[in-house]
Amino acid sequence: MSASTDNVVDELRWYRGRNTLSSSVMRVCFFDINYRLYDVESDIMAKQLPKAYDFSKNEKKIYQWWEEKGFFKPKNDPNKPGFDKNKKPFVIAIPPPNVTGELHLGHPVFVSLEDLMIRYHRMKGEPTLWIPGSDHAGIATQLQVEKMLAEQGINRADIGREKFLEHAWLWKEKYGGIITQQIRRLGASCDWDRERFTLDEGLSKAVREAFVRLYEKGLIYRGPRMINWSPGLKTAVSDLEVEYSQEPGTLYYFKYMLSDSEGSFIPVATTRPETILGDTAVAVHPEDERYKDLIGKKVVVPMLGREIPVVADEYVEQEFGTGALKITPGHDPHDYEIGERHNLPLINILNKDATINENGGLYQGLDRFECRQKIWADMKQAGLVIKEEPYILNVPRSQRGGEIIEPLVSTQWFVSIKPLADAALKSVKDGEIRIVPERFTKVYYNWMENIRDWCISRQLWWGHRIPVWYCDDCREMTVEREDPSVCVHCGSANIRQDEDVLDTWFSSGLWPFSCLGWPDETADYQYFYPTSVLETGYDILFFWVSRMIMDGLEFTGKIPFDTVYLHGMVRDENGQKMSKTKDNVIDPLIVMDELGTDALRFTLLVGSTPGNDMNISVQKIESNRNFANKLWNAGRFIIGALEKAPAQAAQAPQWSLADSWIWARMKQLVGAVEQLFQNYQFGEAGRQIYEFFWSEFADWYLEISKIQLEAGGDQAYYTAYTLVRVLDTVLRLLHPFTPFVTEALWGHLKENCQNDFKDFAPQGGWEEALIVARWPDESSLEGGEEEKIADFNLVQDIIRAIRNIRSEYKVGPNKKIAAIVLPGDKKDVVTGQLEAICSLAGIDSAKLEIKSTLGQQAEEMISLVVAPVEIYLPMAGLINKEAELERLTKELEEAESQITRLQKLLQSPFAKKAPAEVVAKEREKLDVYEETASKLRIQLGKD
Ligand SMILES: [Zn+2]
Repeated sequence: MSASTDNVVDELRWYRGRNTLSSSVMRVCFFDINYRLYDVESDIMAKQLPKAYDFSKNEKKIYQWWEEKGFFKPKNDPNKPGFDKNKKPFVIAIPPPNVTGELHLGHPVFVSLEDLMIRYHRMKGEPTLWIPGSDHAGIATQLQVEKMLAEQGINRADIGREKFLEHAWLWKEKYGGIITQQIRRLGASCDWDRERFTLDEGLSKAVREAFVRLYEKGLIYRGPRMINWSPGLKTAVSDLEVEYSQEPGTLYYFKYMLSDSEGSFIPVATTRPETILGDTAVAVHPEDERYKDLIGKKVVVPMLGREIPVVADEYVEQEFGTGALKITPGHDPHDYEIGERHNLPLINILNKDATINENGGLYQGLDRFECRQKIWADMKQAGLVIKEEPYILNVPRSQRGGEIIEPLVSTQWFVSIKPLADAALKSVKDGEIRIVPERFTKVYYNWMENIRDWCISRQLWWGHRIPVWYCDDCREMTVEREDPSVCVHCGSANIRQDEDVLDTWFSSGLWPFSCLGWPDETADYQYFYPTSVLETGYDILFFWVSRMIMDGLEFTGKIPFDTVYLHGMVRDENGQKMSKTKDNVIDPLIVMDELGTDALRFTLLVGSTPGNDMNISVQKIESNRNFANKLWNAGRFIIGALEKAPAQAAQAPQWSLADSWIWARMKQLVGAVEQLFQNYQFGEAGRQIYEFFWSEFADWYLEISKIQLEAGGDQAYYTAYTLVRVLDTVLRLLHPFTPFVTEALWGHLKENCQNDFKDFAPQGGWEEALIVARWPDESSLEGGEEEKIADFNLVQDIIRAIRNIRSEYKVGPNKKIAAIVLPGDKKDVVTGQLEAICSLAGIDSAKLEIKSTLGQQAEEMISLVVAPVEIYLPMAGLINKEAELERLTKELEEAESQITRLQKLLQSPFAKKAPAEVVAKEREKLDVYEETASKLRIQLGKD
């Protein structure tokens, strides 16, 4: 198959998915024209294993193969024959990324976590569905399209709504797929045939249904309320779209003159003098001695001459500023509330573009900031100014446009949120919905208890247009599921649809059920809803999660999911927020190009704990690329080891200590990982698998297996068997973390085992692919594992102790040394492992003596204590007696300090509260340290 132009475009999207062809994209493009897609199965699953794992060659091919094979689809599909409705599915609805989105590190975080959960449940054999989609992203998309049109010299006002929307849809068709392509590249095993868009036909129907139902219940109303106004975008924006920044500004002190007493005034301070034009009161605290007598009197608004009352309100802090507040109900949310309490008039002084309107008297027509300067200068002349001082302001800026947001009162559509919030609060309080981590439950309660009515109208064109028609004749409103042609009240055809669209969150609040077909009772909706887990960042718990819970309960009568998993934010290695200005942003596309998707995923997953921010560096990702390489090399070694093993065993297995140890440790690992997965501790699970694979299996078992394979016969056979079974299990456990390298390696492993080593197959046989292979079962321990593990740990400690001495004395790696070992009561263990000890610690087996006592202590011997074993290394000429004495003294000190610590611990309340086996373990440790200390004392001649 040759690469057509379409394929190249497709390639581009996979690799970079940029809107524009940057030079790096051109490079990829050039490279990829020569790329041929050949049969994946004959390639990644060949017997021959390439020397190194080439992620750039494998990732895309493997992903396409998974998708073509239909592995991302639920195994139990309600639209297909043989469906069993009694099987409980595991379902996640993806947090739909903005259709304008470009991949940043936030995407790989949620994609990795959700894909991990999906892959785990799929491997457990559950019908699993992950529904993908994207959000139409009102403001963001409208701005992108406006920008594109501006480049062509087109203004949206000139072409009108309909034409503009045509352009917007064309833009969506062209660029809307980029973000989902990038999400594919992260390995997301979504069912792409079920992909949805929040503005598609079905979802628009859902939005219409939801709006009309709320309206009919009286839960939607139109009226003047305080909202965030973006003068640049000329629309209301949500709190989430407002970012606060600390900026230097000025605090202006001035005089509110009393109307009836010549020369008396109340001192007031403001950071926004232009809002004086909208003042309708001055408020003081009712107990404030300074102003008590003035309550109820009138003051005069500077430059306008309007008289306004002095009111008493407990909201005013006496100690803050002058203790008197100017009240502008039209332009400050707190003042708005005070205004409501005191029935104050509400004056809007701003036009939509933030110039001063007719209420501003002689300042009408001025820009808000010009007005600020002008009114202050005029007040100075009029003798109304007290002073100015520098002040740090908390400035609300638009997340999109960057301009300063104005709080103002505007006529908008609102949802009466209280009845919805009460039900949503209850579902979490009753434990129907669990929030992980639990501490966010309190945050949720706090928000839901203090929730305000939700402003849902936006002055945009791109979005769900509000389904309300106004009648020019009878002035009534028509609110319908289908577009009406006449007024339902008077039958007049003179009706106009509301110009505004709905807040993007209105449609995303319906996502968990609208994406499955609601309001239609589709087979998908009936089977897959409610979904299982909603996974997202803690920053949108309120904006999104709470709205889905409210909407789910209101419209479907069911909770939309039973678990909310919240992840933290990604920060740089020093814990700083990543930002372009700090130049500390890690671009996931570059990381995937250079280090592979698995390395990125593994880093993000092991770095994660529910709800906590994580620090990420390129170095960390690099070291996890090395982990993938280590895995590959271990796989190569194991597949190579098969050549040393006979195809059949002659007898039943006789496990070596190392075999028994690795089997026992593997069983423990499977059990621990299962527990951690069930508690959403995915990061810790990943760390334990990593440690097991690297520090136990690769560092120890693989080394000892070399000796066992050399023995040939049954021992080689059972060693190869153990290697294959452990690697197979590790690959299964790792698959949800690093799906690509594990799938590739597993394919090779299977190919090499399934014909020649039939008994090496997992229970139930080799599956078609790792992605659909069975998750390892927790097998019960057979008993005696603890002892095997302890014995093997002793062997490890002996080898480590000798290695440490060798490195301290700079003995070259190939130089074999002599040793005398006093094994104490561990003679069986030590003699059984002599070969391993000699090989791994560099001991010359011909010069190794096992004794029960040392007898005459030879000169120039180094002694080591690995209780109960003592080791003597005759290293003539290498020893510095003083240094040796110092080393032993240090070891004794260390042992003694451990003894003191453990004795304290065992006498503390801990010993009474902790489980018996934990206490017993600590006691054992104490015994070992005491034995070590006593042996060291003998060697130092202290006893
Ligand atoms: Zn009418």
